[in-house]
Amino acid sequence: MAETMKIVAITGDHEASVIEVAKPEPGKGQIRMRVEGCALCTFEQRMFTGVVPVPKPFIGGHEVAGYIDAIGEGLKPENYPIGKRIAARTFYSCGHCYGCRHDEGNLCVNGNEHDKSWMAYPGIGGLEQYMLIEPNMLYFMNDELPLEKACFAEPLACVLNSIEKGQIEIGDDVVVIGGGIMGQLHVMCSKLRGARVIMSEPDEARREIAVKLGADVCINPLECDAVEKVKELTDGNGAAVVFNTTAVAAVAQQAIGMVAKLGRVVMYSSQHPDKPIEVSPNWLHNSEAVITGAVSPSLRSFRRSCDALSKGIIDPEKLVSGVFDIDDAQKAFETAIRPDTFRCIIKM
Ligand SMILES: [Zn+2]
Ligand SMILES: [Zn+2]
Repeated sequence: MAETMKIVAITGDHEASVIEVAKPEPGKGQIRMRVEGCALCTFEQRMFTGVVPVPKPFIGGHEVAGYIDAIGEGLKPENYPIGKRIAARTFYSCGHCYGCRHDEGNLCVNGNEHDKSWMAYPGIGGLEQYMLIEPNMLYFMNDELPLEKACFAEPLACVLNSIEKGQIEIGDDVVVIGGGIMGQLHVMCSKLRGARVIMSEPDEARREIAVKLGADVCINPLECDAVEKVKELTDGNGAAVVFNTTAVAAVAQQAIGMVAKLGRVVMYSSQHPDKPIEVSPNWLHNSEAVITGAVSPSLRSFRRSCDALSKGIIDPEKLVSGVFDIDDAQKAFETAIRPDTFRCIIKM
């Protein structure tokens, strides 16, 4: 074997291993990224715990930051300077499908169809010291930005896509349901958009973080009727925008109950299980409210996320629960799946 690199693969239920494989060479039009850090999202955590079954070994990792290490034939070094700090959008946009043709690359149905022949095992590829990416997956970042903050490019981009769907106006009441990392990022972004933010979250520690990040009011849905409480806080009207960041069907139902006339409900989280909820067509008719969703980062929101992090407009420092060396990958996963942590980052 010529040059090698380390990768972190999920090799069993609750088992993450460091494996040595061949270092890939960038082909025509490809960029080799030195992945310096990769955060462990719920997606990887579900594979680690076995909730989402995957062929093993499996290489997860999609919240990555690093630098340009080498470029393949056909790319100009002035466009892709070696050593430049970048983040990668690992979800590919094919450019041909319905979603891509509507400029919404996050709705691409071929998101995993790009060349992965260089990968030693199936997966996404971020948990490798080097990964090959296409130019449209690359986003420049500030070289001075600390690595752990740069790793928020993808999760923040997902949230900014959701924020865009919420169309918050200055002075709006916004409810964020759920105080996990995604809920907390929604709080920060909604405040920047000029809203009064109400956080609904049963866990006290998470409510305290939300207040530190700017939430104006926190409610405990286990101690009150959250829908009634939101109505009470908004003169009986409900909130202009409600973001549901939880995977619970009953909460999705609550989200709809909290929204004001002309308001918007954004179903940010995927649902597990995907249980249908009730919506009255007459209520929709009379309220002109909009129920929508937000999935993955759009190309637009990814760029905005990298800009906001690079310029320090959004500082995710309070949401970093640990930075682990690659050889401590098992410990990083075990910490990441604990309910009291936000993001754990593996230094690759
Ligand atoms: Zn993610
Ligand atoms: Zn597509």
